[in-house]
Amino acid sequence: MSKFSTFDFSGKKALIRVDFNVPIKDGKITDDTRIKAALPTIQKVLTEGGSVILMSHWGRPVKDMEKKPELTKADFSLSRIVDHLAALLGIEVQFADDCLGAEASEKAAALQPGQVLLLENLRYYKEEEKGDADFAEKLAGYGDIYINDAFGTAHRAHASTAVIAQFFDTPAKMFGLLMEGEVTAAQKVLSQSEQPFTAIIGGAKVSDKILIIENLLEKATDIIIGGGMAYTFYKALGGDIGSSLCEDDRLDMAKALLEKAKAKGVNIHLPVDSLIADKFAPDAQTKEADNMHIEAGWMGLDIGTKAIEDFKHIVSNSRTILWNGPMGVFEMEAFQKGTKAIAEAVVAATEKGAFSLVGGGDSVAAVNKFGFADKVSYVSTGGGALLEFFEGKVLPGIAAIQ
Ligand code: AMP
Repeated sequence: MSKFSTFDFSGKKALIRVDFNVPIKDGKITDDTRIKAALPTIQKVLTEGGSVILMSHWGRPVKDMEKKPELTKADFSLSRIVDHLAALLGIEVQFADDCLGAEASEKAAALQPGQVLLLENLRYYKEEEKGDADFAEKLAGYGDIYINDAFGTAHRAHASTAVIAQFFDTPAKMFGLLMEGEVTAAQKVLSQSEQPFTAIIGGAKVSDKILIIENLLEKATDIIIGGGMAYTFYKALGGDIGSSLCEDDRLDMAKALLEKAKAKGVNIHLPVDSLIADKFAPDAQTKEADNMHIEAGWMGLDIGTKAIEDFKHIVSNSRTILWNGPMGVFEMEAFQKGTKAIAEAVVAATEKGAFSLVGGGDSVAAVNKFGFADKVSYVSTGGGALLEFFEGKVLPGIAAIQ
């Protein structure tokens, strides 16, 4: 049993780091997934007789206000979340206009069991991102216990995500339910994976995914490479890729990676064909082509029919699946077939008993778009944090608690 599930929260003031960095347009929250993801942790503390002090960042106020003087603090305020959070929790949510100072400490001190206080955006202070210990100590003073439930910022050594933990004794600091779920799922894939373990890596750029692929060479049996990044590999192999996406400064690296995989006995699967288009647009003319022979002026925007069949076969035989990055420009209907087919294959493998983890920005958007989010084993909320975890890095937010 985890520390969080067995902890007695009665009479305790829980200082919880959440990730409420939700998209807001014209004052309206357009996607509240991150807020909803934190609710089980908050509700458990409240129903067991504790009170909750929530802290989060929103955007990058200091940096953005420096760049754009027309922006004000109000453009980054967490006050815009209060009503929505109150509606989701079904209780009043108090708010402190400044995460430091008299108002915050008085409201925190007066908090009664069952009550919730949200602190204003931590990143109004540059000390947050700098990981300033004095700033962290002041925040720590509000709570009896510290709970980190912000997996999305676990890769940052910020004051509220990592540094703060030193001001709590070991029994008084723990992961929340979201963080526990994320860490358990990620560790299950990386450290206790049942084989065959297939990693599906897609998206635009090889340079973004190189470290994750290198680390997965130590763990995975099969690595599927799709999306725009596949063309850099084809060019490295001497193919004609037309005007497909390519990082010319990564050709040697791509080649070296293929050789390294071969030496290690890891199967790298590149898409043999593509759906190519005469322009980057939803109404482009399209046809299929072998990836070694894409005509000049045409670009690969999705994997082709043969690649879909190959990849489906590999996925269906897998016992562990990690999926990061789409197979094509799935935002346009004309180029979503490959990503959708892979999503279906991951769902089918999961139904047969495989453990599947989908994470990292656009693949999450893809499973949500196709309605498969509840049909895979775990959908991660952490983009950069999940990537860094699979790159083999120690995440400060996890290390500070463990
Ligand atoms: P990433 O953030 O690196 O996972 O990349 C995701 C983005 O890659 C999405 O916006 C896709 O539209 C884009 N993408 C995927 N395949 C291609 C492709 N063949 N050509 C251009 N962009 C692509």
